[in-house]
Order: sequence, then C-alpha cells, then structure tokens
Amino acid sequence: MTDRTVKMIVGLEVHVQLKTRTKLFCGCQTSFGDEPNSHCCPVCLGLPGVLPVMNREAYRLSVMAALALHCTVAPHTKWDRKHYYYPDLPKNYQISQYDLPLGSDGYLEIETEAGRKKIRILRAHLEEDAGKLLHAEHGDYSEVDLNRTGTPLLEIVSQPDLATVEEVRAYCMSLRQIVTYLGVSEANMQMGHMRFEPNINLHITENGEKHATPIVELKNLNSFRAVERGVAYEERRQLAEWDETHSRMKAGTKTTRGFNDSTGETFVQREKEEANDYRYFPEPDLVVVEPKPEWIDELQRGLPELPLEKKNRFVTAYGLSEYDAGVLTATIEMARYFERVAELSAAPKPAANWVTQGLTREINTRGLSIESAADFPVTAERLAELVKAVEQGTISKTIGDTVLSEMIDGKNSAAEIIAAKGLAQVSDTAALERMVDEALAANPGPVADYRAGKKQALGRLMGAIMKASGGKANPKVVSGILEQKLHQ
Ligand SMILES: [Zn+2]
Repeated sequence: MTDRTVKMIVGLEVHVQLKTRTKLFCGCQTSFGDEPNSHCCPVCLGLPGVLPVMNREAYRLSVMAALALHCTVAPHTKWDRKHYYYPDLPKNYQISQYDLPLGSDGYLEIETEAGRKKIRILRAHLEEDAGKLLHAEHGDYSEVDLNRTGTPLLEIVSQPDLATVEEVRAYCMSLRQIVTYLGVSEANMQMGHMRFEPNINLHITENGEKHATPIVELKNLNSFRAVERGVAYEERRQLAEWDETHSRMKAGTKTTRGFNDSTGETFVQREKEEANDYRYFPEPDLVVVEPKPEWIDELQRGLPELPLEKKNRFVTAYGLSEYDAGVLTATIEMARYFERVAELSAAPKPAANWVTQGLTREINTRGLSIESAADFPVTAERLAELVKAVEQGTISKTIGDTVLSEMIDGKNSAAEIIAAKGLAQVSDTAALERMVDEALAANPGPVADYRAGKKQALGRLMGAIMKASGGKANPKVVSGILEQKLHQ
C-alpha cells in the first residue's frame, strides 16, 4: 500500500473576442454570420505590399480589461509576427504580442464553495484571429471563410493556480462576467467569442517522492461545460496513465489534445510547439504602442463597478443574502434591472425576492430572459409597480403572483390588471366585518371548537373567509376582526 497524494495543477489561456466594429488592422467589419469572404480586404487577405494600421478601440478595450484584472499596463509595447502555415491564415503569420504584452502580473478573484481565491494573471495581450475552414460533408475538400481573419482577440493567460474543476469553472465564468460588465466583449459563447485552453497536469507525491505528469494543453474549448468535462477527463486520464506506466511517464513533454464533445474524451493532436518554432520577430509594419500614463489613469477611473464589488454592495446596502446577491449580479443586465426595481419600488428586499423567485420562475417556464431586453415584457417600471402594490397591501402576495403571470403574457400593467379584474385586496373594515359574521354563522362547528380551546380552529375560519372573498380579503385585518369577535 502506497501513501499517495494527487494534486491537479491548471493554468488557463482564454481568447476573448473584443467588441469592435472593425478588425484589428484594417477597416473590414467584424459582423458575424454574413456571406463567406464578404468582409475581406488586401490587408486581412495578406496581399503583398499592404500596410496594417492598429485599431485604437481594440487597444482601449484591451487596456480596460487588463486594468480590471489588476494588471500592470505596459508603457511600451510592440507587435510581433508569429509564423505558422495554415490554410486559414493567408499571411502565414499572425500578428501578436510576444515578449512585451500590453498587460501583466494581475489577478482575478474567484468564488467557490471553499471561499474566495485570487488566481494570478501572467499576461494579457492582443492578437488577430485566423479565418475558418469549412470541411465539405461530401468530398475531400475544404473551403475557407476569411471574414474572421484579423478579428481582435485579447488573450488572457493565468498562472497555474487552479486546482479543481470547480475553480476552473468559476474562473471562466468570472472572466466572462467581467468582460461583459466592462462591455469589452459580447462574450457570446454560441458565436465563439470566448475560447478556452486549459493546461493541465498532476503533481503526485508517492512515498515522499514528488512526481509530475506531462502537461497537456486542451485546445479550443468553447463552452464552460466543455472546459469542465475536458479538465475532469484529463484529471482521470492522467492518473490512470500514471498508474499504468508509472515512472516511464516523464514530465517535460507537453502535448496538445482536442476534446470530443460527444464522447467527453480528449485525444492527442500533436506534441506542443516551442516558442522558437514560431520564429517570432518584431512586426516591421506597425509602430510601437506607448500609451500616455494620463490616458491609462483615465481608463482606470472610468472602470465600472465590477461583479464582486457589486455583489458585496448588494449584501451590505440592501441586506440581501450572499446567494441572492450572486444571482442578481450574475449579469450586468440582471443587476441593472434589479437596482431599477429596487429604486422605483423603494423596497429593495421584496424587489430582490420578486426578481429571484416569482419573476425568474415565470420567465424560465416561458424561455424568456432579462438579458434579451427587446422581447422582455415586464420592464423594471412595471415590476416595481407590482412590488409596491403588494408592499402597500393593495393586493396579497398570492394575487401578486397571478398578476405577474398575466403581465408577462399580456400587455397590461399591474394596476390595469388589478383594476380590470377587481383584484384589489379588501381592507375596508365594515365589509370585512360582514364577511367574518357570515363565516361565523356558516361554521358553527369550528366556532365552538375555538371557544372550547382548540386554537387551530382559527385557521379553518380564516380559510373559509379567504375563500369566500376570492383571496382578496386583507388577511391581517381579517384575523384581527375574527379574534375580536370570537372573544366577544
Ligand atoms: Zn480587411
């Protein structure tokens, strides 16, 4: 029996497509889903004799992201050519940043069940994307679409600080949350705006001796689920291979593997290239970038409140639970929506409950989302009106649920629905006294029980009155009158 501990070590490279109108070094549009090869020009086609010009907006968005990740922004950076041959890369090199990335030495704080943890960021640099190969279903040929060629990508590289699948997931999701809060990327996963490449290996201590399995880089994962499954699979696979081959498994030979979404397994692609295989050299056609310190300060000051800060504020300012604050800050749209409802209703806590419970339940069953604001029927103004109606006792919480459901399906406001259907709660004492009298007369059994000391009979009487009123009687007022009359 051996005494063994196994620790997984994961670092992540993430490519984030920036939200610019045009490409990184030419004026072609970055729009998605258009006719293949309709957004190309001599620059992004790599024709000889053309000159690239840097897209300032792409640089500004990258610096914002680097600052939000607590990186140091380089006062001096340049561009480098990374050479490789691939049919979707007409220039045969990619313009990237090699030894002088625009941002370095930052961190991203993640949250897991175990608490908060800072994951160090090694570097963040800007580079251009390649095109896309479309492999024909029938026949042995491929077609190339160069619309994507030259699209700006921010590559964010973490230190190998992630130790569990849960941490990897939290890191990826948190990064997506930050770039969308900043507005630097749409981070639409279906459109491939974020691509993840985890580097994974195991540190195994056996009988006091330390070993490491070779590092595996998983290429081009484009969903959180693929990252989770891919990393979990590698953790199991590397341990199994270690058990089989034991000391013959040597650290130092890094390989890249792909991930098969349908089997959930990874497969060998190639032995990893070293940096010198790419023959990096400084791009002679682009000038160095030297951002002014004042400009960087201005961007720093202009950074919006980030997800964790917002979550902390929701807990302290509105008295929400950590869980609810997390749900309400999951997306910037959700956070904005909630704060608007809280402000307009002047009832933040009930507003939080309505958004996280009733509203979430209703929109989930209908496949709607707050994020797709265009077709979202319940504006913050409308929900706030409903929250107020319940808080002020105009309608009960139960009736409120019905009203909400109708608001989503129809076009009417809460006030209109309440008025049209006569749903307003009855709080008028004289009317309620009549209802109580009728209920007492109609239910002599429970009345006798109550007077004989069976206090639970009160519930039956309350139920009878609420039912008779169609749920509209104000329960607080009713219960006061009822007790008073029973003790007469
Ligand atoms: Zn172009």
